[in-house]
Amino acid sequence: MSPDSRSAEILARLRELRTRDAPTHGGRTLAYVYDPGLPELDDLAARAAEIARPLNGLDPTAFPSIAAMERDLIAFARRALHGDTRQARVVGSVTSGGTESCLLAVKTARDLWRAADPRRLSSRPRLVAPTTAHAAFQKAARAFDLDWDPVPCEPDGSVRSEELIRRLAPDVALVVVSAPAYPSGALDPVGPVAAAAAARGISCHVDACFGGLVLPWWPGLAAWDFRVPGVTSISADLHKYGYAPKGVSVLLHRGRRRHRAQFFATTRWPGYPVVNPTLLGSRSASPTAAAWAITQRLGAQGYAELTARCVRATAAIVAAVERIDGLVVQGRPAGPAIALITDESVPPAARVDPHHLADEVARLGFRIQHQPGFPQANGVRLPHSAHLTVTPVTERALPELLAALTRAADTVRGRPRANPRAELAALRMLGYGSGARVPGPSAAWRILRAAGVRVDANGGLPGRLAPLMALAEQLPTPVAEALLIELLARVSEP
Ligand SMILES: *Cc1c(COP(=O)(O)O)cnc(C)c1O
Repeated sequence: MSPDSRSAEILARLRELRTRDAPTHGGRTLAYVYDPGLPELDDLAARAAEIARPLNGLDPTAFPSIAAMERDLIAFARRALHGDTRQARVVGSVTSGGTESCLLAVKTARDLWRAADPRRLSSRPRLVAPTTAHAAFQKAARAFDLDWDPVPCEPDGSVRSEELIRRLAPDVALVVVSAPAYPSGALDPVGPVAAAAAARGISCHVDACFGGLVLPWWPGLAAWDFRVPGVTSISADLHKYGYAPKGVSVLLHRGRRRHRAQFFATTRWPGYPVVNPTLLGSRSASPTAAAWAITQRLGAQGYAELTARCVRATAAIVAAVERIDGLVVQGRPAGPAIALITDESVPPAARVDPHHLADEVARLGFRIQHQPGFPQANGVRLPHSAHLTVTPVTERALPELLAALTRAADTVRGRPRANPRAELAALRMLGYGSGARVPGPSAAWRILRAAGVRVDANGGLPGRLAPLMALAEQLPTPVAEALLIELLARVSEP
């Protein structure tokens, strides 16, 4: 066989594997992917990524093209987030994604907090955030040794600024607010929280990983970006509403001194002098190049037009859900993230469970995301919901999407939430009822299989996730987390 035909065969195999993936284009997957609905933009991104493919983002002095693209990207994001004034002095870095931006925001704030007082050198600061803040901040707290201090939200997903402000004290290194929060779509009270943080000398990060490149053109929002005094850093993902392929985000800081605290440098080894602005060492320049090309092509005007499509599609979905008995939109979404919850004001026979709805919508060809209910420390439970990420292409898919939502609601209306009583009793018998005992890999896998989870060549999960979600929600947290780890590890295990 010739090398060419061998390569063709390999690529054919990859294409065949790809056929089982959730659709990335066309508006049928309402999470994970952000489709502008412009094939020429995908094509441009692919070409730019290919041109930059051989580079190593580790050293922009060896590859100045990377520095040039980063300058343009930071300037673009800074302008969109109103950080381009002389007083604001905003600078920043291109990172590999939202999680890395959030991790670095936390690390930077922690290092500045420690540097402010020698007595803090060996102590552990707090990280204050609403419970709806992205999980990446919990990861950051664990990685960089801060105490995670979650502030309970209202059942509609909003958080009261007083609740956040009450927690601010000298041991707080950072308070995080979101624009918007992913689970509920709510825009947190950035103004009052940032002002209170500034008055106390505390860093305030706005997590705009989700909204950073769509909210700047969204109508009717209170200021949430660098216009707000006291906002010290903002994360914004280019691989979400920047429409770039995965692997690119920006983290912006107010002031050079703060930005420099993000870096790592060492001359204390015999190799090349190391200076990394981000967590990774060697890194791909392809996502940067793709994002650069897309921002150059779209410009602020292009983003404004794509945002207008998101605004229209979001309004149409909200209006359609209002006409569906037993289902409501949680709170007041301030952007293109919507959470659907049960309307508890109607009799049980008329209620629509969002997880049954999500399972049924999946049978009709659309993917929306199951979010479990969440008990908070003050006893207030955030309801379980179904998340929709609305993108420009959603507008084109609207007739089918709204029909699917309506039909799925009709199918599941009155069906009570899955009740995992039998599974929970079995787990209690095995000693996993309290969370004191956590299953190892084999036990976790047996539990998952008993709950109907299979991982086959198709990477299959059960067709219906509602029962699994109901179980996960009621398990002790450490047990549920062990099961999640086992599931994901098994998916990729040879
Ligand atoms: C997506 C997201 C993140 C994390 O970003 P990744 O790119 O998935 O690592 C953080 N915060 C919010 C609000 C997000 O939506």
